[in-house]
Amino acid sequence: MARDAKYDILFEPVKIGTKTTRNRFYQVPHCIGAGTNYPGFQMAHRGVKAEGGFGVINTEQCSIHPECDDTLRITARIWDEGDMRNLKAMVDRLHSFGSLAGCELFYAGPHGPGLEARTISRTPSQYASEFGTVPACPGFTYSHEADKDELKRLQRQYADAAERARDTGFDIVDVYGAHAYGPMQWLNPYYNRRTDEYGGSLENRARFWIETLEGIKNRVGDDVALVTRCAIDTLYGDTGLELEVDTLRFVEQASDYLDLWNVTIGDIAEWGEDAGPSRFYASGHENDWVKFIKKHTNKPVVGVGRYTQADKMQEVVRAGVIDLIGCARPSIADPFLPKKIEEGRLDDVRVCIGCNVCISRWEMGGVPFICTQNATAAEEYRRGWHPEKFEPAKSDKSVLVVGAGPCGSECTRVLLERGYTVHLYDTRDKIGGYVNDVAALPGLGEWGYHRDYRETQITKLLKKNKQSQVALNQKPLTADDVLEYGAERVVIATGAKWATDGENWMTHAPIEGADASKPNQLVPEQVYEGTKEVGKNIVIVNHDPYYTCPSIAEKYAAAGHNVTIISSVEVGAYMHYTLEGPNMHRRLHELGVEVIGESAVSKIEDGAVEYFNIWAEGSKREYRGPGKLPRDENKSHKKIECDSVILITGRKSNDALYRELKARKDEWEKNGIEDIWVLGDAEAPRIIADATFDGHRLAREIEDEDPQHQKPFKREQKVWGAAYIPGDNDDLEFRL
Ligand code: ADP
Ligand code: SF4
Repeated sequence: MARDAKYDILFEPVKIGTKTTRNRFYQVPHCIGAGTNYPGFQMAHRGVKAEGGFGVINTEQCSIHPECDDTLRITARIWDEGDMRNLKAMVDRLHSFGSLAGCELFYAGPHGPGLEARTISRTPSQYASEFGTVPACPGFTYSHEADKDELKRLQRQYADAAERARDTGFDIVDVYGAHAYGPMQWLNPYYNRRTDEYGGSLENRARFWIETLEGIKNRVGDDVALVTRCAIDTLYGDTGLELEVDTLRFVEQASDYLDLWNVTIGDIAEWGEDAGPSRFYASGHENDWVKFIKKHTNKPVVGVGRYTQADKMQEVVRAGVIDLIGCARPSIADPFLPKKIEEGRLDDVRVCIGCNVCISRWEMGGVPFICTQNATAAEEYRRGWHPEKFEPAKSDKSVLVVGAGPCGSECTRVLLERGYTVHLYDTRDKIGGYVNDVAALPGLGEWGYHRDYRETQITKLLKKNKQSQVALNQKPLTADDVLEYGAERVVIATGAKWATDGENWMTHAPIEGADASKPNQLVPEQVYEGTKEVGKNIVIVNHDPYYTCPSIAEKYAAAGHNVTIISSVEVGAYMHYTLEGPNMHRRLHELGVEVIGESAVSKIEDGAVEYFNIWAEGSKREYRGPGKLPRDENKSHKKIECDSVILITGRKSNDALYRELKARKDEWEKNGIEDIWVLGDAEAPRIIADATFDGHRLAREIEDEDPQHQKPFKREQKVWGAAYIPGDNDDLEFRL
């Protein structure tokens, strides 16, 4: 299908200095957990985006020198020839598809904790990082105030790194000054308290940044295009950098040294203002700031804002807001976004849902990232998964998938792509499982794109595959039904449910009096159904660290209920990693939700809940001998009155169907069943991204010896006394 002519503008080439990008799709630098540690992962992940049509693709933050060490988080480094060699695999791959390769030169200051290199960073003044450099520990890492020799040394480090980037084959170097990194600390009066010619007036504060750009230009000339990533407003008024006061003037001063501006907003401690979760920000949320930049420079501008819709992209280009469409998350959820727009296949786009689970894995450190929508993200190299290519079916054995949630629907989609005969079966009237409920919670509407993508794709694939079908709105399948169904293989993806008796991670046991069959107690499923009456005063008994508790609290508080949360974990603790945390806490605070933290519930009575401080609980070390432990009996128990209690304590797999089928294994053969597997939340409760991954994995591995258990993936690990495994001559192609 040809694309609509209004999108042609997105496929125009744009000059960036001496380089030309083939179109306006620009993968801005974003972290993935590969860095230079996992060159195969780096090469293959960025490579599919080049194949998918992105004109420019950048590394993640790439440290210029050991003084910038962001471990625990895995980031790229360009310290020496080894790093260059590892990054070259990516660069060559991008070039083979006609894309430009960019390297983001990164110097963290105290926002990088230096845990591996044990170095101290140089900054304009001395300060402690306000970022949780070590998770949940702001204020832990300090910098050293640079004297003039030291700041010149730092500028040379930038130029040295730019030279190494050029010699690696990069087309672009981007001096990273967004998110409070590198030269931003010199420009921003929040950090820069100097009184010499590098501090004070805007001209003085801009001096370090401009000299750094000049030094790089002198060193690498026009061999590479020079870009800088700049946070144009730090969003804390005159204590930081303000667009009209500082940045527009800075843009005018620095433009001559640059070939492109890469602009964002916000800082590092709350970088969710930039990588805005859909819970709080719609696509294009930075435009109120970004739209001014082009009026103050004659260089092209790239900006971000979770651009997933072609209409919105062409609109912002035509309106002169930006020249290049910056994508991080949209390129992760769908590396073939440009190609799909180019080919007029808009309904095939896997739209980023803005959940920031990708960011969460990087933010907590040390692991490859994942994507809720795209199960192949980070699996391109180690499992050989291509986001758009599937191995044809290796047998004509039919598959019954029970449960059309994230796991079952993804499994079905991939099996259909491969050409298998599949029956997808669910009691609900819609594909999507519990995503249908979650997407109805405050702010989570865009999460419904997860369901929509699978629904659309399965519907399309069924038109080509007439033996397959989706059966919704059915009665629950029993073990007899499954045995008699006639399928040779069965996937049980029946999901999980919230415990109705208060079972939780702390005691691994029910809570006295907790019983969701009572009229005044509810579990989240009953909240979603909306059939049980909820009183004015609600107590939420919470042991869950993610979005369910704050979302349900918000729902009821916004509707005028008095909500108190009694929680053993920080409410929404995991949402710090998804960058939803700060705004979520503000929202609950604004709505008057009371949080009784570090507490758990001992008993639920009619009209009251008894709770205690968890640190007052000495019973964990109870000793029955003659001595006495230095712990008090827990005397902290208190009572709170309420009309309704919501139990968000723990999840349990819906695995009864699987367990009965397994117990009747001797009946499989005579019913023509070869295998039955349990997947997703039905195997163990997990986040949507991991349930989706599991369904995807089985569909790829269904012909393997033991598909219930994942097959080994290719590791990129240094082996003592030997070359890397896989070795230096390892193929750079996918396994397909
Ligand atoms: P996951 O995240 O693992 O995909 P979900 O809870 O989202 O889990 O999805 C499970 C789906 O399975 C739900 O849509 C539910 O209606 C369906 N389901 C559960 N048990 C049965 C059953 N016995 N027969 C048919 N469908 C079922
Ligand atoms: Fe988008 Fe979520 Fe995937 Fe990140 S994990 S790219 S936010 S869908």
